[in-house]
Amino acid sequence: MIERGENKEYLPIEGLAAFNKVTAELLFGADNPVIKQQRLATVQGLSGTGSLRLAGAFIERYFPGAKVLISSPTWGNHKNIFNDSRVPWSEYRYYDPKTVGLDFEGMIADIKAAPEGSFVLLHGCAHNPTGIDPTPEQWEKIADVIQEKNHIPFFDVAYQGFASGSLDTDAASVRLFAARGLELLVAQSYSKNLGLYAERIGAINVVCASSDAATRVKSQLKRIARPMYSNPPIHGARIVANVVGDPALFNEWKAEMEMMAGRIKGVRQKLYDNLTATDKSGKDWSFILKQIGMFSFTGLNKAQTENMTNKWHVYMTKDGRISLAGLSLAKCEYLSDAIIDSYHN
Ligand code: PMP
Repeated sequence: MIERGENKEYLPIEGLAAFNKVTAELLFGADNPVIKQQRLATVQGLSGTGSLRLAGAFIERYFPGAKVLISSPTWGNHKNIFNDSRVPWSEYRYYDPKTVGLDFEGMIADIKAAPEGSFVLLHGCAHNPTGIDPTPEQWEKIADVIQEKNHIPFFDVAYQGFASGSLDTDAASVRLFAARGLELLVAQSYSKNLGLYAERIGAINVVCASSDAATRVKSQLKRIARPMYSNPPIHGARIVANVVGDPALFNEWKAEMEMMAGRIKGVRQKLYDNLTATDKSGKDWSFILKQIGMFSFTGLNKAQTENMTNKWHVYMTKDGRISLAGLSLAKCEYLSDAIIDSYHN
């Protein structure tokens, strides 16, 4: 960077132009009409959290009283972000403990019942904390209801490429909604997929009905950002722009993500195999295989997670979530024994 003469002058409020370009293209695909027709307002944010927070401030200012619907459960910081933005929120049903799967009927009913014009926060892929994503057919039905009710979809995309191993597959939900011509918001993070946690690099994208609206939205987002943090940091933005802009580095990154996603899938399979081979109760463990991403809901309740910790020294969150990124193949058998013991005691 020094050799290239890159300095540490301030970025413009909206961030590094080369970053904003590639981040939008990674998300929507370079040929997407929302980009071609300049209907997209992209502003670099302070990673996923900062981008969500900027959107929170935008909603509070321009949609006073509008509610954000969030999944139950969701990533722990969502509620804090909307509380601090003074945006009212409520929850929609998402997790069904009976199947350790999606409560699809409940989700649809709650989105339908919300006041017209609400924002619906959706995890683009690899739902945190459950690891449970809607199927493509379910995404279509979710889009139908959102459209019917004039709601505004608001995606949180913190794991693009890291869930399935493919950047395009993991962005399919967002692209499906964009293809319907809906106006929508997407917060992006490069913490996980590029391992840039501490660089605080991400973006807020707003798809608008016209290029004129996109210009206005971008201008208003900048007005909100200016007194909050003035302008975003440059280093992570350059890393993303350099990696995506260089074919060799881009391919290397994609191969590494594929490897990471593949490793997690391998661990899921091994854990499932151990569970089904050892557990004689007839319990269906296939939810482990159906879930996606680094997190998995085990279906263990609070008392059962305490057994995991006290007896087996497996430390996990009390909601029953484990991180598969921290599990090696060699430890799957031990974990499986611990889970079975905790379930049946
Ligand atoms: N959204 C979700 C669903 C997440 O899991 C995370 C990280 N745990 C984030 C957003 C934001 O992370 P960051 O601010 O580091 O991008």
